[in-house]
Order: sequence, then C-alpha cells, then structure tokens
Amino acid sequence: MAIAASEVGMENAWRDVLSGLERRLGGSDVETWFRQVELLRLDGDALVLGVPNRYVSEWIVDNYRVPLEEEIERAFRRRLVASWVADGEPATPAPAEEDGFPGHFRLNPSQTFETFVVGASNQFAHAASLNVSEAPGRTYNPLYIFGGVGLGKTHLLNAIGNRIRQRNPRARVVYLSAEDFSNEVINSIRYNRMDQLQEKYRRTCEVLLMDDIQFLESKPRTLEEFFHSFNALHSSGRRICVTSDRYPKDLDLPDRLKTRFEWGLRADILPPELETRVAILKRRADAEQVHLPDEVAMYIATHNASNVRKLEGSLTNLLAFSSFHGRPLSLAFAKELLGDFGEKRDAGPPSIERIQEVVARFSNLRVADLKGNRRSRVQTVPRQVAMYLCRKLTKHSFPEIGERFGRDHSTVMHAVRKIDEDIVKDADLRQRVETLERMIAGGREATS
Ligand code: ADP
Ligand code: MG
Repeated sequence: MAIAASEVGMENAWRDVLSGLERRLGGSDVETWFRQVELLRLDGDALVLGVPNRYVSEWIVDNYRVPLEEEIERAFRRRLVASWVADGEPATPAPAEEDGFPGHFRLNPSQTFETFVVGASNQFAHAASLNVSEAPGRTYNPLYIFGGVGLGKTHLLNAIGNRIRQRNPRARVVYLSAEDFSNEVINSIRYNRMDQLQEKYRRTCEVLLMDDIQFLESKPRTLEEFFHSFNALHSSGRRICVTSDRYPKDLDLPDRLKTRFEWGLRADILPPELETRVAILKRRADAEQVHLPDEVAMYIATHNASNVRKLEGSLTNLLAFSSFHGRPLSLAFAKELLGDFGEKRDAGPPSIERIQEVVARFSNLRVADLKGNRRSRVQTVPRQVAMYLCRKLTKHSFPEIGERFGRDHSTVMHAVRKIDEDIVKDADLRQRVETLERMIAGGREATS
C-alpha cells in the first residue's frame, strides 16, 4: 500500500536524510545531486524517489549508495530500499554485477585532476597519478604518494579513482582509508563474513586506492588482510595506490610489507610554493564565484605556507566573515581578521618552538613526543632531526637546545653529529630535512 508523500512526517524524515548527507558529504555534493531528488512515496519497504533523469539516479547509486541507505535508515528508523523513478519511468537499479561491490562510493566527486592545481611542489606526484589512471597495462605498481598533512594526497587519490571511473564506469575501483579498511576487517570478523571481504579485496577489486596507510600500524589482523590482498592484486597486475605522511621505511610495519611499498614508485608532495598557493586560492574563489583581489590572495598565501587545508580554511573564514558583516574583501579586512602575521614573522631565525611544532606535525607526532623519553625509532629520528635543525637554524647553544628537549647538551651534540653524517649517505633523510627547513621557513616568508 502506497502512502502519499505529502504526509508531514515523511517530508521531515526526508529533510533529515538530506541534512545527514550534507554533514557526511559536504554541502556542494548534496546541492548538486540530492536537491534534484524528490520524495514520491513510501511503498512497502521501498522509498520511491523521483529524479529528472536516469543519469542522476545512476550517479547517486554509483557514488553514494551506502551513505544514502544509512541516512534513510537513520531518519526513517528502518531499513528501506531506494527505488528510483526517472522522468516518470522506473529507472533500473545499479547493474547486477555492482551489487555487493560498492567500493567506490566514497570517492569525492569534486576532487579531480581538473580541480588540482599543479606547481613545482606536486608536479611529479600529479604526473605519476595521471599516468596511473590513464596508462593501461602495467607501469610501476604500487604508487606510493608521500606528503605532509593537508598537501593534497587524498585529493590526488580521489582524482585517480574519479578518472578511472570516468573512462570506464564499470571499473571496480575501491577507494578507502586504511582506517576504514580496518573497520571493515573488524566487522567481517564480528559477523563472520571474512570470505566476503577476501573476495572483494583479493578477487573482485581491480584498482585499490588506500589512503593514509600509516593507520595500518599496530593492527595485526588488518595488516595480514592487507598483505594478502596486496599480493593477490599485485601478482595479477592490478593497480594499487597508497598514500602516507611517512616514508615506507619510517612506518612501524613489518619489513615484508615495507619492501613491497618500495617495489613501485614513490612520489613526494612538498609544501606548495607561493605561486601555487596563490593559484589554489584563486581557483577556490572562482569556484565560489567571488572576486578575490590579488593582494588579498597574496596575503593569505604568504601567511599559510605549509598546508593547503589551512590555506583554504583561511579563505573560507574570510569569505564567511565578509559576507556576514557585509565587508568587502580588502587587504585591510584580511589583515584585521587573519591577524597581521607579516611584521611579526618575517624577521630573524625561527624559534625552537616553531621547529619542534613543524617537525612534530610532519612526523605525525605531538611536540610532547619529541620531548618525551621513548626510544622507538619512530620518535628518535624526528627528535634528532628537530635538534639538528635547532642547531642549524637558530643561534641557541647545545645546552639551551637540550633544555628545551628535556635532554643534556651531549645528547644534542650526538644528534647533530648523527644527522650530519646520515644525510650524506641517506637521500631520503636529506630530502626530508630540506623539506622541513622549507616548511619552517615557509611560515615566515615575507610578502614581496
Ligand atoms: P592530505 O590528504 O594530504 O592531508 P588533502 O588532499 O585532504 O590533503 O588536501 C587538503 C585540501 O586542500 C583539500 O580540500 C584539497 O582539495 C586541497 N588541495 C590540496 N592540494 C591542492 C592542489 N594542488 N590544488 C587544489 N586543491 C588542493
Ligand atoms: Mg588525506
């Protein structure tokens, strides 16, 4: 028996679904896709939804089936099947072979190659990602994208997935974070569905895109599953791309896995140069259809050096405040809101605090870890690097630096000597120290 959708309760529940989706997916996806959906009626266990054309329902089913079903279940307080009517005709559900394989639904449709700004800092990672998504057959495998927080790793991984699916909508792409994977493993154990998980990752999947693989650390069961999936995919020439904010060898993972990450190609993303930061801001402003004066873009870009996410955050704040207060986007307004970092920051050497902060963030540690007593390699190397940089970039003495790390001067001397020696032999370390120097200096670049 069909119940008319005009009932207030149902309309409210549907609105609740939309706001739930907005929280999960972000406003623009919901705006683009779900605002075109009209709630028609509830028919038994089917929620009948109308869309202007088949393309819309197919895109939604392909990309958002799981979040949609979950939000419907939450808002309607029971499990319902979405049944689509396109242009007045029942629309066919997703192709049968896609059933049980909603691997790509998490792809963010707005993170594509088209929306990715290329500069010297990310050129190589961009080219490698493009190559992976376009070159058929085997090239380097896996692709390992490395970079600090907020530099575009997730964006590139999504761009790869979106491009592959654009070229072949049936490509069985799985995109997820290592954390999501771990949750899937846990649930599969709990509900006794391990064979399904193995089927999905070892056999059905054609391209595996796994974000933030540092989350595999200290999760033995997840690791084991990942290891076997990796082998199955790799040996049959299927593509694997992973991202991490650490180098393979700095991961606290078994050697057999770290070695595998080194089989393919590693592409590093460095903090963007000033020009790239300005270009990213301009592009973002264009997308929001606001005019961003050059001097304001330059100001924001100068004071958010090391992280694209923060860069965008500053712009978002500025836009929100400017429209809220009805103030034009002027340099004066930007300075007022974002603080006048310029004069304070561009003179003199960096502080020990800043060095500790940058090194900690880059190594995915807390500053307290750098000062702490743990001796695991994960912390020892960043700590030594931080001490080395303090000695190199500031005028502080060994005892002064030691004091700020809770160590005596001999520890600092040892660390400095060690890193000095190691960077000669170890290209990765050298590159990492150079990146850190740039990040530390980056936050203090003067407007020119
Ligand atoms: P990560 O995964 O490395 O922490 P993200 O990929 O989440 O970083 O990037 C953070 C934000 O910055 C995202 O909104 C992303 O779209 C944006 N971003 C990063 N790099 C670029 C770029 N080169 N061009 C455009 N946007 C970028
Ligand atoms: Mg990320």
